[in-house]
Order: sequence, then C-alpha cells, then structure tokens
Amino acid sequence: MSEIGSLWEQIAPAGPACPPLDGDRKADLVVIGGGFLGLSTALHAAKAGLDTVLLEAQEAGFGASGRNTGFVVPSLKSALGPAEVTRLMGKEHAERLLRLVAGSGRTVFDLIEQHGMDVPRAQNGWLQPGHSAAADKMLKGRLPALLEAGVDADYLDRDQMQTLSGIPGLHGGLRVKSGGQINPLAYARGLARAAQAAGATIHAGSAATALTEDGAGWRVTTPGGTVEARQVLLATNAMTGNLSRPMRNGIVPVTIFQVATQVLPDEVRARILPAMAPVADTRRHTFALRWSEDGRLITGGMVVPFGNRMERARRGFLSRIRQFCPDLPPLRAAASWTGTIAATIDALPRMVRFGPGLYGAIGCNGRGVALTSALGAEIAVLMTGRTTEADFALPVTDPRPLPLPQLNGLAPHLWLPWSSLLDRIEAGRSATTHQDKKEL
Ligand SMILES: Cc1cc2nc3c(=O)[nH]c(=O)nc-3n(C[C@H](O)[C@H](O)[C@H](O)COP(=O)(O)OP(=O)(O)OC[C@H]3O[C@@H](n4cnc5c(N)ncnc54)[C@H](O)[C@@H]3O)c2cc1C
Repeated sequence: MSEIGSLWEQIAPAGPACPPLDGDRKADLVVIGGGFLGLSTALHAAKAGLDTVLLEAQEAGFGASGRNTGFVVPSLKSALGPAEVTRLMGKEHAERLLRLVAGSGRTVFDLIEQHGMDVPRAQNGWLQPGHSAAADKMLKGRLPALLEAGVDADYLDRDQMQTLSGIPGLHGGLRVKSGGQINPLAYARGLARAAQAAGATIHAGSAATALTEDGAGWRVTTPGGTVEARQVLLATNAMTGNLSRPMRNGIVPVTIFQVATQVLPDEVRARILPAMAPVADTRRHTFALRWSEDGRLITGGMVVPFGNRMERARRGFLSRIRQFCPDLPPLRAAASWTGTIAATIDALPRMVRFGPGLYGAIGCNGRGVALTSALGAEIAVLMTGRTTEADFALPVTDPRPLPLPQLNGLAPHLWLPWSSLLDRIEAGRSATTHQDKKEL
C-alpha cells in the first residue's frame, strides 16, 4: 500500500527530545508504549510521585494515537448504550466506566489547558446523526440514560442536525457537548512534554524486546539496556507484536484509512461543519468528517489492507464526502495514511493482569482519544496503590485470547462488505420512507 503521508506529521508541532535507553536502571513503574494511554499513565504516575520510565519503540504518537481522526468522543460505540454496558459488565463496573467515559472529553481539553500544550483544538461538541430513521429514533430514546450517566448531550432533530452540520440529508441524532476535535499528534507530543515536566523519563527508539519476572518485580529488556520495576504497564495496543501473545491475541487489529483534501475555500468552510464540530454517524462503516486546523476536510474508515488498495481507498473516500456534501469543488487527496485500532468483540476496553504487577490495557476500539486519556489517570492511581483492582473502572481480568487468534486478521475482510451492505439497506430503506412521506 503506498501512502502519501500523514497530514498530522506535516502540521503538528515537533515533539520533545526523548533519547533512547542507554544502560541499566531501576524505576517504580515501566510503561511500554508511547501512545495516549502510556503517556497519560506516565504523566499521572509521575505527578503522583512514582519514578516512571516510558519505553517507546519509535517515537511518541507513532501508533494509532498520532494517526487518528482526532475526534474527542466522550461516549462508547453506538451499539453500546448504558443498558448494553450494564448487561455486559454488571451494574457496578458499568456505572464506573460510564462515569469515566462521560468525563473523558473534559479530561482531554483540561489536560491540554493545564499543561499549556500546543494543540490545535475545538471543544464545540461532537455530532452523531443516525444513519436511518430507526437509528435516529434509537439515539433519541437513549438520551435520558446518557444524561443520567453524566454525559453532557442533547438531541437534535433532522432540521437542527442539518443546519448545525451544513450537511444535507443527515438524520437527527445526538450532540455530545463536551466532545470536539484535536490535532492528535500534537496532543501525543504535548502529553510527552507534560510527562517529562512532571518527572517521567521517556526513551524513544527503545523497543521492549523481553519481559522477565525477576525477584520482586520485572526486568524489561531493550536493545540499549534494561529497566527493573515492581510494576509494568503494557500500552502497546494493536502494535503489541510478539512482546505479549496473550495481549495480542485478545484483540482484532483493524486497519483504518484516513484522507485529507487540499485546502478548501473559506466559502466551503463557512458552510460545512461551520462550528468545527466533527460528525460521525451510526453506520457500521461510519461516515466521519472534520476540518483540519489548516482548512482541509478529513474523512476515512476501515479498509482491507492488501494489494494496491490505497489508490482505490483515496478515490472511494473522497467520493463518499461528495455523496454527503454534493456541492463541493473537485476534491484532491493531499495526504493519506493508515493506522490500526485494537478492536474487541464487544467493543469494550480491557484491563488485563498477566502476573503480579504486570498489567495491560487495550481495546479502546475507535474511541481511544478521550477514553485512553481518562483511563491512564485511573491506571496511575492503581499503580500508586491508592485504589485496588476491585475498585478499578474496568474489571481486571486474566488474559482472554480470542478462540482462533490466528484468524483475527481475516475478520475485517468478512466484516467490511457485510456491514457496508447492511448500512446501505438500512439507509436506503429509510431514504425511501422519507421520500414516500414527502410525496404523500
Ligand atoms: C486511523 C484511526 C482513526 C481513529 N480515530 C479515532 C477518533 O477520531 N477518536 C477516537 O477516540 N479514537 C480514534 N481512534 C482510536 C484511537 O486512536 C486509539 O484507541 C488510541 O490512540 C489508542 O492509544 P494507545 O496508546 O492505546 O495505542 P497506540 O497509540 O497505538 O500506542 C501504542 C504504542 O506502543 C508502541 N509499541 C508497540 N510495541 C512496543 C514495544 N515492544 N516497545 C515499546 N513500544 C512499543 C508503538 O510504537 C505505539 O507508539 C482511531 C484509530 C485509528 C487507527
């Protein structure tokens, strides 16, 4: 697959210097992985007084954190309303997780503010229209439970949604007011700087290659040296590789494609998403759209990564923007790139204990910007011992590999065409119904 390159790489401010590990040392906590989860954990753990070392194979934000769409979404996947989360996790954990998620938009924007991070951002809400009349109704019905869970949201009918988004044809749905958008790579780099300022040590270019239980704790080996610590957090997400097979085999890696257009005229900017509130509908193969801070539309979605699919993806996703926003000048792909999310079967995140003091958090699916930021703060509290596993936001479980992990990579190949077909049927059915009503 040929990539034109990530827009965020072109426009994000540079990150801090993080020299590779050189020699052997000890710490209270080793965090492996410098995405939002690892960086937020390191920041909060260092602030709480733990001697914290973060090891990153490449550089801060190299993984999904520096490649995502930058939607700050204080809500779980649309299939997971409060009732469904309660069914899956039990009342106590569901309440804790829903509270954490509800506050997670504020967590992101507050962290940026408090630490003076140089992160282009807009906290003007996140829009979730239904993709059909039935989805619109489902979202409207879910609002009271979301409000009760502390989510700052309201329902917008079809006209309000179209007026606010400037996108004709959208159904009604939810606006989560504490959500918004950020430049994700700028945020990852800002978190790294803040973690260093709080006292954490970050070593980039320092892949953990082995984890060995060693007396009272763990020894983490990298090409440049080792770190010994009583506690270790694996925050390697979909890039875990062979470092921990039990962690890797608990998720399905899903490739997500992103494309950014050329800079568009001010007239378009004033018309489409004029409030810079990003939009993502309830389609299984979600339609998502936002502006970059330099005036480009960004969209994307799941792709099946084989052969020369990149060129097709570029054309396909640009033409998808035009289907929703027909009145646009010709669009060109000025940047395109991919990243991998760690998906779980029930779309819920996991906190796994691999051994005494050795944890892994994974599976924030496509909701990791806000959720990992908030989860990192919770994990830091667990690491300080000020809370127990029993009181943690997520159930802390033994590893639960998927039944046929060697087939995990195949799942998207089956899921994508099937879910796109269902989306088309549902959206088509509802467009027909709407048309029928208009004609009556
Ligand atoms: C294209 C795309 C779009 C998305 N859009 C959104 C969105 O708009 N909103 C949203 O909420 N979520 C979105 N997501 C999901 C979100 O980006 C992720 O859930 C989140 O970034 C995960 O953060 P993380 O820290 O767990 O993992 P990552 O950011 O993937 O970080 C893992 C890190 O671990 C490092 N690593 C791996 N192995 C080792 C090792 N052995 N030693 C040292 N380091 C190692 C990697 O280099 C990497 O930097 C999107 C994801 C993708 C891919």
